[in-house]
Amino acid sequence: MRNETDYLCHDCGISEGELHRFGCKKEKCPFCGGYLAVCGCHYKKLGFYDRSRFTATTNYLPVDIYENGLSKKLKKQWLDILNNKRRVPYIYYPKICCKCGAVNPKKVIYFGCRWEFFIELSMQDKVICDECFGFIYEVIIHKTLHELTPMEKIYEHLAHDLLFNQK
Ligand SMILES: [Zn+2]
Ligand SMILES: [Zn+2]
Ligand SMILES: [Zn+2]
Repeated sequence: MRNETDYLCHDCGISEGELHRFGCKKEKCPFCGGYLAVCGCHYKKLGFYDRSRFTATTNYLPVDIYENGLSKKLKKQWLDILNNKRRVPYIYYPKICCKCGAVNPKKVIYFGCRWEFFIELSMQDKVICDECFGFIYEVIIHKTLHELTPMEKIYEHLAHDLLFNQK
C-alpha cells in the first residue's frame, strides 16, 4: 500500500488527479509545459509581452505590468484562458536515474566542468545518481584518460581535485 501523503503536492497539498490551488508553484503550464509561476506565458497570452513596443529593461512588458504584475481582474482572465486550454491536473512523477533506475536519487549537479566533461551532451539534462556519476567518472578516467590531449588532462585533474575535496 502506498502512503498517500508521499504523493501530495508539496506546495499546495492537493492529491494526484486534482488541480493545484491557483497560484501553486508546482502547477505546470498547458501551453509550454514549464512551471506556470515562472514560464511567462500569462504575459504572452494576455498580449502584454511585445518585443516591438517594449525593451529588455522591462522584460518587453508595459512598465506598470512589469512593476506591479497582474491585477486581480487580469489574473481572473488568465485563469479563464487556462481553463479554456485545460489546466494540467497534478500527477506525481518520480525522478529516475537514467543509468541504474534508482528512484528519486539526488541529482548530480556538480560544477559545470566535471558534469560537462564526463556526461555526454544528450544526457546532460537527465537525472544521474551520485553512484552512477562516480562510476562513469572512474571508467572514463581509467579507460580513456591516456588518450586525452594535455589540455584535457589539466582540465581533468582540476575536476578530480574538486570531486575529492568536496567529499
Ligand atoms: Zn500544488
Ligand atoms: Zn507557459
Ligand atoms: Zn544511478
